[in-house]
Amino acid sequence: AIRPREELDAVESVCPYCGVGCAITYRVDREQNAISFAEGRDQPGSQSRLCVKGRYGWDYAASPQRLTVPLIRVDAAYPKGALSADVRGEGTGDRATGRGGGDNDRGRGGGGGDRSRKPGDKRGGHRKPGGLVDYDEVLPHFREATWEEALDLVARRLREIHAEGGPESIAGFGSAKCSNEEAYLFQKLIRTGFGTNNVDHCTRLCHASSVAALFEGVGSGAVSTTYGDVVNADVVIITGSNPTANHPVASSFFKQARRRGTKIIYVDPRASTVAEHADIHIQLKPGTDVAFYNAVMHEVIRLGLIDREFIASRTSNYDELARTVADYPPDRAAQITGVDADSIREVARTWGEAGAGVVYWGMGISQHTTGTDNARCLIALCSITGNVGRPGTGLHPLRGQNNVQGASDAGLIPMFYPDYQGVDREATQARFEEAWGTPLNPQRGLTVTEIISSALQPDGGVRGMYMLGENPFLSDPNINKVRKALSALDFLVVQDIFLTETAEFADVILPATSYLEKDGTYTNTDRRVQLGRKVLDAPGQARPDWEIVQDIAQRVGLDWAYGSPSEVFDEMVALMPSYANLAHGNLGSSGKLYPNSDPEHTDGTVVMFVERFNTDDGLAHLVPAQWLPPKELPDGEYPLVLNTGRLLEHWHTGSMTRRSYALDAISPVAEVYMHPKDAAERGMAHGQRVRARSRRGEIELQVRISHREQLGNVFIPFHFREAAANLLTIDEVDPFGKIPEFKFCAVQVEVL
Ligand code: SF4
Repeated sequence: AIRPREELDAVESVCPYCGVGCAITYRVDREQNAISFAEGRDQPGSQSRLCVKGRYGWDYAASPQRLTVPLIRVDAAYPKGALSADVRGEGTGDRATGRGGGDNDRGRGGGGGDRSRKPGDKRGGHRKPGGLVDYDEVLPHFREATWEEALDLVARRLREIHAEGGPESIAGFGSAKCSNEEAYLFQKLIRTGFGTNNVDHCTRLCHASSVAALFEGVGSGAVSTTYGDVVNADVVIITGSNPTANHPVASSFFKQARRRGTKIIYVDPRASTVAEHADIHIQLKPGTDVAFYNAVMHEVIRLGLIDREFIASRTSNYDELARTVADYPPDRAAQITGVDADSIREVARTWGEAGAGVVYWGMGISQHTTGTDNARCLIALCSITGNVGRPGTGLHPLRGQNNVQGASDAGLIPMFYPDYQGVDREATQARFEEAWGTPLNPQRGLTVTEIISSALQPDGGVRGMYMLGENPFLSDPNINKVRKALSALDFLVVQDIFLTETAEFADVILPATSYLEKDGTYTNTDRRVQLGRKVLDAPGQARPDWEIVQDIAQRVGLDWAYGSPSEVFDEMVALMPSYANLAHGNLGSSGKLYPNSDPEHTDGTVVMFVERFNTDDGLAHLVPAQWLPPKELPDGEYPLVLNTGRLLEHWHTGSMTRRSYALDAISPVAEVYMHPKDAAERGMAHGQRVRARSRRGEIELQVRISHREQLGNVFIPFHFREAAANLLTIDEVDPFGKIPEFKFCAVQVEVL
């Protein structure tokens, strides 16, 4: 029976999806241990708004496919043996091509559901959603185990590999879906339990290049102002981003600001819906951002629209920047970017004449082999026009996952301890050695993509991995290579809430709780730290990630005895100057921005760098960049450019949203988005099944005729296992941020 609102509990939490981090109140039927509905809550960053994912995308937690008991592999050959044969080119079974993988007989899971069921149990009308892992096929290759047995095995195997291969033989992938406390404990375990900095997470696939450029340029990896500060801007540049799909509530702030007079310059190869709200839309060729922004700076300087006083007092290296951009007059840039020179001049004038401007950017900037250079240009453009450090000005990389900012802050990256304190700095190392009571490794660790390559080394390299909440089988580039790496490991433990594609490769699978079943903090793209509160009881024997990590830590000899996430947070804050003064007890209903001198009385700092930047000399370092083409250009055999990304209704590898009934019902099918002329040339009709292939793999999916694509460019979302876009992508990386070029590779699309 549906209970009236007044009989439901109200629990305050945070949306688990994008970096906007909307405040959500769940209305809970305690008798059923089920959510009845979700509603937005007032908080400065979201103002009670929610998109479709926040409002309807929570029923996956009640899926009968939840993992509820620890599992241990019983069949050494499955799927590792079979897949390693596939990736050696000895056959291409279903997994290697991404074909098959289930029917379209979707579950009808509402907010309730019998949470005592075992994984794969189809009672009650819940069936295997299309495209997801086939539990009936996979589970027979594992057996149920007690927690004691599973944890003992994990600790023993990781210790054995560490003893044989040394610290560099162990690596861990954490997750931006986990809380700050879990991210902190996970990196601490890898660093103190195994003596290695081989610990990373999906920031490597997201904004690592932006962070590299921001650190070098302004001394901080976080945003310099909030997305809500758009109301104070005369003009904003939104670039390499489709905020309507990826940051929907932030996008509503942008559109609202425009109605109040803020001009929007939208720079993106795709004509996403925000283009319809823009004053100027620059549809440049993909991979030409450096040429475009150098030309804009060229014009800003030529027209005298720079802020000379700001340049003199707040920046360094201006002369070298000016010399570099002098080589990019609009006429030359027009040939590279495909944008007419007058439009480049118009952008320069509009930006340069404005009193206050903010740049908001997404992964169209960061996910290139020139991602760091792209971000360097944006930092330079803001700095030479004095657009940092005042209301309505600044730099804002729109962070992807709800806690990618927090997980990075908490040290889940191979070159930094918490709060971006370099592992290779002697004084920092000494401070953390004292705090953690153990010697630490001064060598920077391997990144996500380097760990995958290391696992493929015939001798040595990474042999044992701990995967907490990540699913590289679908999320990493060139996934045939990832599959080969996962199957080559001596030992893999996967901790997750579902049997993900990556879990198929595991030796041990540990059932964790979803964000709805635990307490913890999450830091959004604005630097807002919010408390997610436990909403539901966990199903079966699933346990919070922080408890599982602590149990493994104790088994590898660490004397951890944390009693709660709040205690972990207090330890973090003591080591993280940026988070100073914050505690679970003072975050309140809306969370707090960091830095925050007085969280009891203030919301925190909106505008950073008012008087100085966080660099050692306090100046913004201007770093010029030369345009370089993408790594794999189209040719006769692969004539189209592939761009990958997300849809509004789905999230990353789909493990959550494809099990949310409403979201999967709205967007159930993998599609390749294609310009009408490209489709017509190939004799394709809307909805037709087609094959997309690159030098690395091929997939079959439906074609969607789309006027939002440029001629010669196609877009494929990466959420769908049955048509995994990352079978096609290239694993070339940016040399500084080590981020893969997800936004550009050469493909062909043809009728089946
Ligand atoms: Fe969740 Fe982002 Fe949507 Fe807000 S905008 S409800 S954080 S997915």
